[in-house]
Amino acid sequence: MSLLSVAGVTKRFGGVVANQNITLEVAAGELVGIIGPNGAGKSTLFDVITGFYRPDSGEVRLEGRHLTGLRPDQVSRLGVARTFQKLRPFSGMTVVENVMVGAFQKHPDPGRARARAMQILDRVGLAHMAKAHARALSTGQRKRLELARALATEPRLLLLDEVTGGVDQGTIPGLIRLVRELHEGGVTLVVIEHNVRVIMAIARRIVALHVGEVIADGPPEAVMRDRRLIETYLGQAYARE
Ligand code: ADP
Ligand code: MG
Repeated sequence: MSLLSVAGVTKRFGGVVANQNITLEVAAGELVGIIGPNGAGKSTLFDVITGFYRPDSGEVRLEGRHLTGLRPDQVSRLGVARTFQKLRPFSGMTVVENVMVGAFQKHPDPGRARARAMQILDRVGLAHMAKAHARALSTGQRKRLELARALATEPRLLLLDEVTGGVDQGTIPGLIRLVRELHEGGVTLVVIEHNVRVIMAIARRIVALHVGEVIADGPPEAVMRDRRLIETYLGQAYARE
């Protein structure tokens, strides 16, 4: 059975069809990349999976169990964590306190939650910033903080929305390495990534969205040869670099 199963999901905002009949299966242990131009519906798909939006039709399941209709905190408790494209740390709190917010889900005792948060900060390379205020972090460090907060819920499925978006070029290889390490550590990952070179480097399967629809799903080499994808997206993406 798939870990994640998205079946025929459609999500509209007024007249805009952000997700159109999306079907997607993710097996435990996979690292799946999601690509597509701005507005393709990538973030909306994460919002639907994690309970921030209810789809107009279709279903989302985790190991066969319905997620559709559950609230974000309920989905999180079932083992699905996400990061946000627009970073939203609690900027008045310290780095370790931000991660404790995630850790409390499994460890209600503050001492345990803090210890767990420290372990995770160490894992993402932020232990030295534990006592700093979140607002003091660079963009790359904030991405790591988002990851740490998501990891602190001890997810089976982790959804990353543009983890390298908006960071400077020099910061990207370290983030890629971290994503790979998390995957090797046993977390199933679905990664939205704008940068085609980054996604080619990490994912063994790529799903391409275009105007809310899945237009390609397969190994990177095959997906990158897809005519429709080249015409709609890759041409632009490479032209920009
Ligand atoms: P992507 O992440 O691929 O860039 P999004 O999922 O953010 O795309 O957006 C898909 C479409 O849905 C876009 O046309 C966007 O403007 C629209 N959309 C997303 N969220 C909302 C919302 N909360 N209200 C209205 N329209 C939205
Ligand atoms: Mg997005």
